Amino acid sequence: MESGGNEKERINRILESLEQQYEGRTTALKYSNPFELLIAVILSAQTTDKQVNKVTEKLFQELSTPEDFAKLTPEQLEQKIKGVGLAKSKSRNIIETCQMLVKEYNSQVPQKKEDLLRLPGVGQKTANVVISIAFGEPALAVDTHVFRLAKRLGLSKGKNVLQTEEDLMALLPKTKWASAHHWFIWHGREVCTARNPKCSLCKLSLYCPYYQENSALAGGLKTD
Ligand code: SF4
Repeated sequence: MESGGNEKERINRILESLEQQYEGRTTALKYSNPFELLIAVILSAQTTDKQVNKVTEKLFQELSTPEDFAKLTPEQLEQKIKGVGLAKSKSRNIIETCQMLVKEYNSQVPQKKEDLLRLPGVGQKTANVVISIAFGEPALAVDTHVFRLAKRLGLSKGKNVLQTEEDLMALLPKTKWASAHHWFIWHGREVCTARNPKCSLCKLSLYCPYYQENSALAGGLKTD
């Protein structure tokens, strides 16, 4: 493993490789405006993007504005989103968020992170995804894939997503924050999976402390 002055070089190599592999790939969530993106990201907690897309395809045909959602009862919305996990709490949060958008934000999705964080069901990750994808602001949302990769690649020892976000923002150039978020997610889905990461196929193995430690211990990692 490279260290000290070579750390910057190692990080550059990781980013270059990820860029080559995943350039142009962004979110798998389907949406057509910032409001739909916000709802889709709230729905995506602990649920796959594929599952969210299945639900929103029908949902957004029926309900397209904060006013439409704000009129529903949590039970009514829960029925419509029951294909995603945590439908009960998500329906409550979405309705309260939409009521707040109508009352306080002229039915628009706010562009400032501090405003987004006031909305029920919107945490760091959701706020960062919305400001970076919908409004092109530099932000680095940390989800489960980004968290895992940052740890395995030795980019953060953060114990929670906020610490990891801070570490990554300090290490990576600001111009790469939004793209790196997507690259980490795609790499985490396709190669560096939570169980049995496919290290033998991974183009980052040369720069990966997790791989080097584990292959030294076990004489090679299992892949599936
Ligand atoms: S070498 Fe293995 S642990 Fe490291 S990034 Fe690649 S898949 Fe993940």
